[in-house]
Amino acid sequence: MNETFNLYRLQQLDTQRLQRLKRIKRIDQIIASDKAVQKIQKRIDLALRQHTEKEAILADLNTKVSEKTLKYKQTQAKLFGGKISVTKELQDLQAESEALTRTIQTLEDKQLDAIHESEITQAALDDAHLAMKQLLNEQATDNSLLLGERERLLQQLPKINSQREALKNQIEDGLFEEYSALFKAKGGIAVAEVIEGSCRACGFELSPTDLQQAANPGVILKCKGCGRILYKA
Ligand SMILES: [Zn+2]
Repeated sequence: MNETFNLYRLQQLDTQRLQRLKRIKRIDQIIASDKAVQKIQKRIDLALRQHTEKEAILADLNTKVSEKTLKYKQTQAKLFGGKISVTKELQDLQAESEALTRTIQTLEDKQLDAIHESEITQAALDDAHLAMKQLLNEQATDNSLLLGERERLLQQLPKINSQREALKNQIEDGLFEEYSALFKAKGGIAVAEVIEGSCRACGFELSPTDLQQAANPGVILKCKGCGRILYKA
């Protein structure tokens, strides 16, 4: 039985499996960040609604101030136009003029507050738009394509898993445990190919004796550089 070849095959399957799981995880992250788009969109909608409200209040106040100011000017023109000589009428115009002054003052105070509030809601809206722009720049992906890819990857997993199980049954328990421990400890690569006399994982050059050993399918040889199981085709 060629143990090292079986281990090498197992490594290949595990690598394929890991690559797919990683990719699925990445796709999930990208899709989840699309929820972030929805979240920011809600923020934009809310900010826009609030800002529109404030703008409407401000526009209404502007109109009222203009109207009252015009009325005040008309009253003043009548008052000082010299055409009215009846004291009672002049007194009424004077009172009206004063009342208008007070009204305009109150409206102008409200107008200042409204301008301030409108600036705040405008800033919140700008912030939300900026956040969206940044997020979209980060993403720039087509989610429907990604979902298709995710589905394909998921479909490939059972086949890889069953091949892996079948292979595992051919490997001696102790050796499989050793493989699993190395797999965990060595970043998902337990078995390294020998390419041009060196370990593919760490580049360690094998001695001529080790090269001979590595070529012997019945011998489990570990790299003296990284400790991984060596496989030579
Ligand atoms: Zn090595």
